[in-house]
Amino acid sequence: MPRVALHTLGCKLNFAETSTLGGQFLDRGFEVVPFSESAEVYVLNTCSVTERADRECRQLVRRALRRSPEALVVVTGCYAQLAPEELASIEGVDYILGTKEKASLFDYVGAMTKQATPQLFVSDVGDAVGFGAAMSGPATDRTRAFLKIQDGCDYQCTFCTIPLARGASRSQSVDLCVMQAKTLVQQGFKEIVLTGVNVGDYGRKIESDLLTLLRALTAVKGLHRIRISSIEPNLLTKELRDFIAEHPAVCRHFHIPLQSGSDSVLRRMRRRYTTVTYRELIQRVREQFPDAGIGVDVITGFPGETDGEHEATYRFLVDLPVSYLHVFTYSERPNTPAATHRNPVPPAIRARRNEQLRILGQRKRALFAGQHVGRTVTVLTETSVEDGFRFGFTDSFLRVGVPAAAAEENEIIDVHVTGVVQDHCIGEVNGYERKR
Ligand code: SF4
Repeated sequence: MPRVALHTLGCKLNFAETSTLGGQFLDRGFEVVPFSESAEVYVLNTCSVTERADRECRQLVRRALRRSPEALVVVTGCYAQLAPEELASIEGVDYILGTKEKASLFDYVGAMTKQATPQLFVSDVGDAVGFGAAMSGPATDRTRAFLKIQDGCDYQCTFCTIPLARGASRSQSVDLCVMQAKTLVQQGFKEIVLTGVNVGDYGRKIESDLLTLLRALTAVKGLHRIRISSIEPNLLTKELRDFIAEHPAVCRHFHIPLQSGSDSVLRRMRRRYTTVTYRELIQRVREQFPDAGIGVDVITGFPGETDGEHEATYRFLVDLPVSYLHVFTYSERPNTPAATHRNPVPPAIRARRNEQLRILGQRKRALFAGQHVGRTVTVLTETSVEDGFRFGFTDSFLRVGVPAAAAEENEIIDVHVTGVVQDHCIGEVNGYERKR
């Protein structure tokens, strides 16, 4: 049986798409093996959000070919769309498929034979109008399934390369999303993470919206949890929040990108809110959902960011009632307006600012975890077992470990939280009574 190894770089959306590709290989008689093993075919689904992702991609191709020098190598994803010629210069790459081509990989790779020179199939991103349905299924070892409901973005944040790589915003119909959700439930998944580039923009062009989709998904029998992977602040409306408040199946977890706590930087980024409106939103979410996990993306070292602007971001975040930060160091992405700014921040300063915010993020995470000690939380357990503990997540995205013998994977259990280790909680399963 031929073996295929697939690897994802980047976001949950890419992960869902890779899983779907894995399923297509399974249907064609392939065995799906980990990327660290030898295989006849390697598929790399790339990201190009940061410079690091580009470098990682090159390393992975080289490593795969060291393991299996005769293997067929297919590279797709955002980096393939944006810089196909760069990928073509990596020795051993056979096929490079753009965003549009990714969804129909077998139409291009066909005979699965090694090529003398890289074959490039990369359409203009303006042609990427199809959807490319994707969901993570049993080919993965995760207990949370990722369901792609939306793709592309019509916003024009000046630092972002995603609209160039994935094209315009588009959504999958509510009916199809519900059908896929039912399939995932039948496969045993208890939680589905709704993924996309700009999830809150769901439905705009198909006369629907995220609220309509959530309403339909909450009616799916056996679906215990629906998680919104991330939502732009201007799209987390009162209507949406009120619906979530009334439907416990929708996770109390809000990942709301901020990017900067300085209004002048937000303007240069072309973001669609001010620090005042962002703070108001967070306060409303916190009032309505006192126990929610609230996550924030923030970028350090955006071009022209002064010490004062960075300090404004730090001060803004210090007392913002959020649970964790995802801190990114700005990196110039080709063909984005920000990359042409005349006043870049030196890399060492970008890194120092990142470190400062990262430490603040760790404090917030530990504080959030600490608030749960002595309480009972509901956890969906996952596959991983570390140091005798099985881990899982609450709906607020708090990581909780219990003695491995007390729970199996993919179970929903009540846990009495007894302590905090670093940024996660540990606890005991309440009477070993499991909720199936
Ligand atoms: S909202 Fe802005 S940062 Fe997010 S994908 Fe769209 S352009 Fe990029």
